[in-house]
Amino acid sequence: MTLAAPKNSLLSLPNELLLLVYDSFEPWDLLAHVCYHQLHSRTQACYARAYMTDFWQNLLFYNGLVTPFSEMEPTKAFWREAAFGYANHAWTCTHSVCGRQRLEANRAIIREKLETWNPEDWDGTCILDSRAADFRGRIDSNDIFRYIDFNNSFPRHDLDVETLSKLAGKCAFLRADPDVDDGWHTADLLHNHPIILDSFATFPPIDWLRIFHGFLEDEDSVSETTNDYGVTVHDALTLLATHLEKGITPNTIEELVMHGPWDDSENVHDPFPDSWSQSDAVLAAHRVGHWFQVTRWRGFGFHVFDETGYVATVDCEGKWLPEDVQSHIDRYTYPRTS
Ligand SMILES: [Zn+2]
Repeated sequence: MTLAAPKNSLLSLPNELLLLVYDSFEPWDLLAHVCYHQLHSRTQACYARAYMTDFWQNLLFYNGLVTPFSEMEPTKAFWREAAFGYANHAWTCTHSVCGRQRLEANRAIIREKLETWNPEDWDGTCILDSRAADFRGRIDSNDIFRYIDFNNSFPRHDLDVETLSKLAGKCAFLRADPDVDDGWHTADLLHNHPIILDSFATFPPIDWLRIFHGFLEDEDSVSETTNDYGVTVHDALTLLATHLEKGITPNTIEELVMHGPWDDSENVHDPFPDSWSQSDAVLAAHRVGHWFQVTRWRGFGFHVFDETGYVATVDCEGKWLPEDVQSHIDRYTYPRTS
């Protein structure tokens, strides 16, 4: 049974006016559209045209999102349901860098990129062909990486990609403030935040991400992932999760202290307090995952690699650490499991 609309309510308007209300929404406003679609069967009818187009898929793109799907071609209903899911998360998530704030941040940078980029640079889906080497320096990393740290539940590196993908959001956590570091007591598991995980890793979004891992031996130092709909934060994390459990040798730590993992002399820094001995540094950062506990992940830098395109480097910067190494280790001793 449908209740009669009270007089003077939105739903007492004729269909033509409901369509005008629909047209008044900014085409990028995910929350307004989901709200209006779910309001009533009559407002839902305004979306009849949308079902003939890529409306819902485009709406997600303009909000910096691409939702994971199986091998089959996703249907229009799939994209619409995904939009509902993200809207519901945006309405309920209280994390200061997720929810509505993240949608707005994503929209702002997508809008900026679409205004400044030559449309010829884009293919039909607005995903950048990242194998073109002349894009160096024109790709921005999603700033969300600054808020991501890893807990000690590093997945085994010999797991298959599908399993690693499931674990990637469970071995990472999301900070409210990257400048406040008290372990993960004020942080939340990244797994709980689909808007973050499914946001594009870069702006403009790229279809192929090749990462140089400066902290690894040569045979493992480059790995890559592809996503025809745009590489996501989750895709990038899955790639990195392959290496979190791997050890860093004392010699490599010395190299990292001198140059960072990016082999770029401009970024020289020493992340450790003066009070830490060399063995303290080794104790605190003996695995790749631990390295991210003593430095803050800034995101990706992009450098020309060879004629096949560029490589992304994992850029880090020093963060505040306590004077004694044991205090640091204690902060990271009790991983959250849920
Ligand atoms: Zn969230």
